[in-house]
Amino acid sequence: MARPWNFAAGPSVMPEEVLQQAAAEMLDWHSSGMSVMEMSHRGKEFMQINSEAQADLRDLLGLSEDYDILFMQGGATAENAIIPLNLLGRVPQPKADFVLTGIWSVKSHQECQRYADAQIAASSAQSLVLDGRRQEAFTWVPATEGWKVRRDAAYLHLCSNETIGGVETMQWPSMADLGAPEVPLVVDVSSHFLSRPMPIEKTGMVFAGAQKNAGPAGLTIVIVRHDLIGHALPICPSAFDYANVSAQQSMFNTPPTYAIYMAGLVFKWLKKQGGLAHIEQLNIAKARALYGFFEQSGFYRLPVHSSVRSRMNVPFFLPEAGLDSEFLQGAQARGLMQLKGHKSVGGLRASIYNAMPLEGVLTLIDYLKDFEKSHG
Ligand code: PMP
Repeated sequence: MARPWNFAAGPSVMPEEVLQQAAAEMLDWHSSGMSVMEMSHRGKEFMQINSEAQADLRDLLGLSEDYDILFMQGGATAENAIIPLNLLGRVPQPKADFVLTGIWSVKSHQECQRYADAQIAASSAQSLVLDGRRQEAFTWVPATEGWKVRRDAAYLHLCSNETIGGVETMQWPSMADLGAPEVPLVVDVSSHFLSRPMPIEKTGMVFAGAQKNAGPAGLTIVIVRHDLIGHALPICPSAFDYANVSAQQSMFNTPPTYAIYMAGLVFKWLKKQGGLAHIEQLNIAKARALYGFFEQSGFYRLPVHSSVRSRMNVPFFLPEAGLDSEFLQGAQARGLMQLKGHKSVGGLRASIYNAMPLEGVLTLIDYLKDFEKSHG
């Protein structure tokens, strides 16, 4: 069976080797006579799967023992509430600051307003015409020197890869340089987690929904420094209190066992590939090929400032929005799927996560060239 090239933003393409291994182990995991789905989360087989996944992830990230890895549920969306519920208890007044670089950081900011005085430390929102519509758009990242962080904020939130806008920032500041050394940096890394090495030691915590680079939907990965655990507000649901999740090795409630197993296979696959430094080189090669093509084309338009273009999510526009549906139909006929842009910004978007091979990107470029030739 020929698999199509899947450019979805998430849930998204999985490494084929991982899917094959899961298929081979579906009915009988390691001679247990059971599928992982059927196992007790407290049994020794699943405990082994869980602890290996934790250890492999720690190894991949080179993560210090100062941080805990929590396997949670509710997605990054639930974390937008779970984070304030866990961190606001550390400060006298409920305050948190946000850097707005796209739709996901805006959502995080909005959710936090239910619990705290949530202020904007910096924003790149601007009114732009995109896809024929005037709208609030984000196409760059404000320089860190201008970020205004309150010294008594519970945390500073940053989304380091805005999946919808395609804006990626690795300018993770030292909080001391921002004049707020006690304020932990909290980073939503959902859509570029495991695509490159990351300076987690600059942060108090990072979090990610698994369904882009780490595995199937249903698992949320939270990496949090120990000193930030144990300060939850009394109203924090006990299943979302990091202290409870940490004390029970992510088994305070029944965890998403199959999603953890699949993520564990992805971690092993990444290690076999040569780890994050190696996968980063492959991701650079794919992004260079695609952006390089767009840059020399006078037909397609890239909305994002060149210094912060995401290696994972590549939004682009045709000269007229009216051509989008013909473009998408032609793409589908060549097995190039899920290239429609997010409804909030329109246009087109190719997500090229770890599991998308260079061959898929080159096939897309061939189609882009042909479409340009026949419509340019
Ligand atoms: N943050 C980012 C950067 C995302 O890309 C997404 C989902 N696409 C979310 C948060 C929300 O994640 P979830 O749907 O898993 O709650």
